[in-house]
Amino acid sequence: MPKLQQVTILGATGTIGIQTLNVVAQHPDKFGVFALTANSNAEGLFEQCLQFNPQYAVLLSEGSAEQLRQRLKQAAISTEVLCGAEALDFVSSHPEVDAVMAAIVGSAWLLPAISAAKAGKRILLANKETLVMAGKLFMQAVEEGGATLLPIDSEHNAIFQVMPNKKTADLESVGIKKILLTASGGPFRHATFEELAHVTVKQALNHPNWVMGPKITIDSATLMNKGLEVIEAHWLFNAKPEQIEVVVHPQSVIHSMVEYIDGSVLAQLGNPDMRTPIAYALGYPDRLQSGVNSLDLFKTARLDFERPDTEKFPCLRLAFDCLNLGGNAATILNAANEVAVDAFIKEKIEFNDIPRLIEAVLNASNIVEVSSISMLLATDAESRLRAQEWITKR
Ligand code: NAD
Ligand code: MG
Repeated sequence: MPKLQQVTILGATGTIGIQTLNVVAQHPDKFGVFALTANSNAEGLFEQCLQFNPQYAVLLSEGSAEQLRQRLKQAAISTEVLCGAEALDFVSSHPEVDAVMAAIVGSAWLLPAISAAKAGKRILLANKETLVMAGKLFMQAVEEGGATLLPIDSEHNAIFQVMPNKKTADLESVGIKKILLTASGGPFRHATFEELAHVTVKQALNHPNWVMGPKITIDSATLMNKGLEVIEAHWLFNAKPEQIEVVVHPQSVIHSMVEYIDGSVLAQLGNPDMRTPIAYALGYPDRLQSGVNSLDLFKTARLDFERPDTEKFPCLRLAFDCLNLGGNAATILNAANEVAVDAFIKEKIEFNDIPRLIEAVLNASNIVEVSSISMLLATDAESRLRAQEWITKR
């Protein structure tokens, strides 16, 4: 029997983590689970350990780690429980690990991401915040370590699937004119700017097409998710800002497109189910069953396209601005956005304050070149502080 691919799943209890385990469970002849990690959900991680029997389980706090240890002991499961941020690093770069699914939300994965990249792992990248925060340094680490980066974000996975070869120095050299990044438009596509001011957390958490964790769902409602994805596309595919066009496509059936210089437009279509990109990346370059139903084109019937409204959704414009500014601008954008989304979920600020806060933090910051991780971390911390101050003062 061929050796099983050993997989670490970071953020195993989240939406992407659970869907990854769903695909892994369909292929016990191909994949073994090396490690599972979560923030604080000891009970969720315990259930997963029962089913997948990983070598390691990681929780962030000692309290929840101890709770998991007790539960595993009672159930006579041999999984070793580790805790803290260094443990994420350990299970992301361990010599026995073949693939790392990065499905943690936010910038907590930055240091383990660099370690996994330097260790030459196959990285299944769902976490977009790390790439936005530290694109240049992360891509350098990928290059240095000879890691393989496989995008999980449905749009980037679609683009990757329709690219002629998977490692390009620049898009022109492979005949690509531009990338057409599709966006559902979120739940407030038809709302006026005035109406957006009164949007509730519950309404914003109700995405029309995708089931996702709370942070990305709010990002989808503000269109910041698309903004982060524009920056993500820049780093993954070496795309210049003017080579990326956002297209609102409310049905979420086309997951993105690539336009070639000869006029051809290649698209990847499918039901909006993340198990397709997850299975693609797990199996790459082979195709695997994912459990996703066939796309029923007759039921889909029509595909609509619109231009995004950046007046109503300034977050998308801010992301393009940051891409054009370069340096640490996207790091500031990401940090301010994380604080803003958290404050909106806790009902401390209103929906339209999210872009206001981000713009204020960007205006108050110095945009400089980034040369080290410590510099990035300092920018991140400073921007979070500025964002908190804005919330307190308003
Ligand atoms: P989620 O909120 O459902 O899950 C997040 C996971 O990360 C959980 O397991 C949680 O325990 C863990 N976590 C949270 N904070 C942590 C911390 N500080 N340290 C360690 N672990 C922590 O989120 P999700 O929807 O699964 O999204 C995960 C990532 O994938 C995000 O970056 C998101 O942008 C990206 N993504 C998600 C989707 C989707 O369909 N859900 C699509 C594309 C990209
Ligand atoms: Mg996406």
